[in-house]
Amino acid sequence: MREGDLILMGPPGSGKGTQAKVLASTPGWVHLATGDLFRDNLRRGTDLGKLAESYMSRGLYVPDDITVGMVRQRLPQIGAGDRIILDGFPRTVHQAEALDELLRENGRHVGRVVVIDCAREELTDRLVRRGQGRSDDTPEVIGKRFDVYGEQTRPVIEHYERQGAVRRVDGTGTVDEVHARILSAIGAASGVAG
Ligand code: AMP
Repeated sequence: MREGDLILMGPPGSGKGTQAKVLASTPGWVHLATGDLFRDNLRRGTDLGKLAESYMSRGLYVPDDITVGMVRQRLPQIGAGDRIILDGFPRTVHQAEALDELLRENGRHVGRVVVIDCAREELTDRLVRRGQGRSDDTPEVIGKRFDVYGEQTRPVIEHYERQGAVRRVDGTGTVDEVHARILSAIGAASGVAG
């Protein structure tokens, strides 16, 4: 069977996006970040972008049908030989169930789910520091994003724990240190994951 795809999970500020980009710089991996797709739509002024922004600016999740529809369109464009790093998707149990089905339709499956763990105080500090870059990194919106993560995304981890796919890594330390932990969690000895 071909290698499975990878889901990177973790609370806001845990470094998912940074780690996904580092991993995706290795040939054979493709980064799929729903937040990036929404922000790209917003920059281009599409209807999808405007709709997404009305949720993002409040720290709320974009409705599942819209988010799943966007991923459904993107998946077939990814080469069969490439492994996907899913970053920021799935975030609800409904999305996780839809993803399982979509991957199957595309001849793919989830290999590993890596959860980046980090204490909330450290996460808030990091986000506030990043705050100049992203309009949803203000203290109120950050607080809301944590609440929504706890309510809607934690159950997704349980969904994958039942499949035995979850590995947890410590998200403290440098980007390189966390990257090395992720490689070992997915069973890759070097940057070229097997
Ligand atoms: P991110 O860049 O992953 O932190 O996503 C930024 C924002 O985009 C989130 O706070 C949500 O408003 C929206 N978003 C990204 N991915 C999803 C998703 N899978 N489901 C719902 N909303 C999402």
